[in-house]
Amino acid sequence: MAKILVVDDNPDNRDLICDILEDADYDFVEAADAELGLASMESEIFDLVLMDVSLPGMNGLDATKNIKDNPQHTGIPVFLLTAHAMQSDIDAGKAVGADSYITKPIDEDKLLAEIEKALD
Ligand SMILES: [Mg+2]
Repeated sequence: MAKILVVDDNPDNRDLICDILEDADYDFVEAADAELGLASMESEIFDLVLMDVSLPGMNGLDATKNIKDNPQHTGIPVFLLTAHAMQSDIDAGKAVGADSYITKPIDEDKLLAEIEKALD
């Protein structure tokens, strides 16, 4: 079973995402900020990361860059989650190596399809 790290500071968003993952039989771990998420990645192996862009402390873009720069995490897809998906935001995500950009409110079918594609 694929294990997914969910990083979002908003508990309601986390619950929503985790419910979607649970219904689709994915295993997941939640983190309320980037620092906690990165710490989880030191002790557990994840197949994919869902990363909120707007976080207290380190933001999701910097956290994504951190993951992509770490050879230990090579090949782990990172999807950025945000309500703001202007082309400039999408470009910023691509610049740090994000594999996909998911806009809020989250479309369950689209999210699951993107995850499936990335894990294939
Ligand atoms: Mg946030």
